[in-house]
Amino acid sequence: MNKTNNIEDIQVCKKCLYPSTHPLGITFDKNGICSGCRIHEEKNSLDWDFRLNKLKKIVNKYKSKKGNYDCIVPVSGGGDSYFIVHIVKNILKLSPLLVCHNKYFNTSIGIKNIANLRIKFDCDILIQNINQNIIKKLTKHTLMEHGNIYWPVISGNTSFPVNVSVKYKIPLIIWGAHQGIEQTGMFSHEHEVEMTRRYREDHDLYGKDEDSLISLDNDFHNDDLDQLRYPEMNQISSIGVRGIYLGNFLRWDSVVQHKLMIKLYKFKSNFLSRTFDTYDHVDCFNYINIHDYLKLSKHGYSKVLDHACREIRYKRISRENALFLVENYQLRKIENIDLFCEWLDISKKSLNFVINRFKNELFWKQTDIDNWNFNGVTQILKKNGLKRKKIKIKNFINNSSSKENLKKYIFFGKGI
Ligand SMILES: [Zn+2]
Repeated sequence: MNKTNNIEDIQVCKKCLYPSTHPLGITFDKNGICSGCRIHEEKNSLDWDFRLNKLKKIVNKYKSKKGNYDCIVPVSGGGDSYFIVHIVKNILKLSPLLVCHNKYFNTSIGIKNIANLRIKFDCDILIQNINQNIIKKLTKHTLMEHGNIYWPVISGNTSFPVNVSVKYKIPLIIWGAHQGIEQTGMFSHEHEVEMTRRYREDHDLYGKDEDSLISLDNDFHNDDLDQLRYPEMNQISSIGVRGIYLGNFLRWDSVVQHKLMIKLYKFKSNFLSRTFDTYDHVDCFNYINIHDYLKLSKHGYSKVLDHACREIRYKRISRENALFLVENYQLRKIENIDLFCEWLDISKKSLNFVINRFKNELFWKQTDIDNWNFNGVTQILKKNGLKRKKIKIKNFINNSSSKENLKKYIFFGKGI
């Protein structure tokens, strides 16, 4: 991240809304356009038929001749799981083993989505359920120390598929899009970047690997973290584990893809209170709530700005429309706090205290005991002369009913 002590020094892209302080790192060209927007332009210039054929050749080498699975596909009840499995089974003609790390903040919609995914695609699925007491202890620790409630989820999401790959001797892991390419253009699609331990540690885990959590100040034991640890290098190389990203070989557009998945397989979408996107993270009570507000607190922008930048790049909305949408959603109330506090056995007051402790002084000014003035990325955009323009958003379908939205965590989901 480009660190600065002065809000005036923050540069904002002239095409999208991303600031120079983006946590994944971002660069700007001489025209003031960010690396994410420049790499996005490749989507309209690359020969995607050629790239899909290249992908087919890569994966064909992994087709099992002994009746084992051909690959591993990490899935959840939201995100791009349906589209990835659709491509893997129907286009690449592979037999996948689906794997899912249980985050425990599951919504009933997310549980339905996983069950329907397994049935519609006729796949086997392995679900990792780590002792909840350990997950709670870790969540409390990363919240208090780093203002992050999602570290244990991401740790499990990124290590479980690799551990299964080693244990079951299935070398190929197939992921969807690479966040560093989609958001900030960290690599070109043509680099065909693959999964690495280093990226996981530096970016997915915010620079904190499992072992860095153990210290004299806490009571973590070595074996508390065993299930979350990434396999050793020699285990990875002896199996030849390799994680590839479909986004390097297909013209990735998650909105178009989700609409197709709703039509073909009845993927369930849902309204989320802090963004206009109805497809992203519908499986989780906290991602676009507490986790998102912590992001706003630390970085001066929240998930709705990520969604808006994506929509600008695909030319579905203007920057002025994007500013309207971001301002409309970013300061909305966090929902489901009561469920989280009850789960973690903490009071709302102490959660609020911790959240406020992580408010970045660059973007927030305290005016009273419970009052803060927000002066984030949207304020910089307005200072630069951007004017908001109202838009009614069309591309996002909600096909779930209020009856399907149970207001409680589903720890272990049943099939349907
Ligand atoms: Zn940009």
